Amino acid sequence: MSKEQSSHLGRGALKQLGEVLREASPRSVFLVKSPGAYEASGAQPLVEEALAGLETHSFDSFTPNPKWPDIMAAMELFRRSPCDLILAVGGGSALDIGKLVGFFSLQPAAPESYLKGGVEPSGPVIPLVAIPTTAGSGSEATRFAVAYYEGKKYSIAHEKILPNWCLVDPALTDNLPSLWSASSGLDAFCQAVESMWAVQSNDESVVYSKKAIALALEHLEAASTSPTRAARDGMCEASHLAGKAINISRTTASHALSYTMTSNLGVPHGHAVSLTLGAVLAYNYGLGEEDCLDPRGAGHVRGRIEEVLELLGARSVEDGRRLIRTLIESTGRTTSLRTIGIKNPEDIATLADGVNAERLGNNPRAFTDESLHAMLRELHAESGGEDR
Ligand SMILES: [Zn+2]
Repeated sequence: MSKEQSSHLGRGALKQLGEVLREASPRSVFLVKSPGAYEASGAQPLVEEALAGLETHSFDSFTPNPKWPDIMAAMELFRRSPCDLILAVGGGSALDIGKLVGFFSLQPAAPESYLKGGVEPSGPVIPLVAIPTTAGSGSEATRFAVAYYEGKKYSIAHEKILPNWCLVDPALTDNLPSLWSASSGLDAFCQAVESMWAVQSNDESVVYSKKAIALALEHLEAASTSPTRAARDGMCEASHLAGKAINISRTTASHALSYTMTSNLGVPHGHAVSLTLGAVLAYNYGLGEEDCLDPRGAGHVRGRIEEVLELLGARSVEDGRRLIRTLIESTGRTTSLRTIGIKNPEDIATLADGVNAERLGNNPRAFTDESLHAMLRELHAESGGEDR
C-alpha cells in the first residue's frame, strides 16, 4: 500500500502553502523549523502569511543530525498541543524531526522499538507538509527518517513516513552558503548514482536517477561557486528526483561508508559520501556472478554502470573516476582522504569497521573484510603524498 504525495515544485512553489493548508484544514499546526535556515532562506514571511489566523506551536531547539533527546522533546511538545498537522521547514534535520514526530505520536509502541525495524505501526500518522531549504537530501520525497540514538545513526523506513505534501521552492536555496550548496548537491548526485546500481533499483527509479545525474552534472558546479537561478532550480529538481529514486532503491556502499567520516571527522554528509563514489563505481564494475548480490546478474549491473559512465561522458571506468574527482573539486571540496583527516592504517581500519554490514547488502557486489580494506587502502594511496 503506497502513500500518495502531492508535490509542488519550482520557483514560487511556497506560495501554494495557503492552498495546501486550506486543503488540510487543521485545528492547529505544529511548525518544526531549522534554527537559522528558517529565517535566512526567506521562508519565514511567506510561511507566517500562510499561517495567519491558525493556531501554531513552534519547535526549533535541535542541532543538525537530530539526536534522540531533541526528537523526544519535540514529541512531548506536540503531545501537549492540540496540533493535528505538522509543517517542517528547513534542512534534512527539520524534515526528519517532522517525519518522526508525526510517525511516533499516535503509536502505542515506544518510539525506541522502531529503531531496529521489525515493528509494524498501527493506525494513522499525523499528516505532514515538508518544505526543504537545501537542495540535496531529497528527504521531502522519501519514506526514511534519520535519528541518532546513543551516538549511533538509525534510518527508520516506512511508507507512512512519506510527507503528504511537499513544496520545493528553489528561491529558498538562493542564499545557501557555498559549502552547503556543494555538500548537499554532492549528496543529490551520489544518491542518484548509487541508486543506478542499487540491488533494489527498478525501471522507475532509474528514470529518476538518470534525470537527476544529468541535472547535477549541468548545475552542481555553478550552484556551489557562482550560483545562478538556473543552477539553483536545476539542483532543486535534481535533489527531489534523487530523493524519489532512493525512496525506491535506497543507497549503497558510499553512503554506508560515509557515516564515520561525518560523525568522527565532521565531514558534511554529501561531501563524505562523494569521497568513495569513484572507488565504489570501479569496485562494483569488477563484479562477477560469484559475488553479485543482484538477482538480475552481473551483466545487468555492469550495464547500469555503463549508463552512468555514458551520462558522465566517460570513455572508461578510470575516466569515470577522474570525472567524478573533477566534479567534486569543481565544487571547491577536496577529494583527498588525507586532507579530511584519514592519515594512517588505523584511520582506514576505523572507517572500514564503522560500516554497517547489513547496509552493504544493497550494494550490487558483495564486500568481504579484505576487499573493503583493499579498496580503502588503494583510495587512500591515491590521495597520499601531497594533500590535494
Ligand atoms: Zn545522502
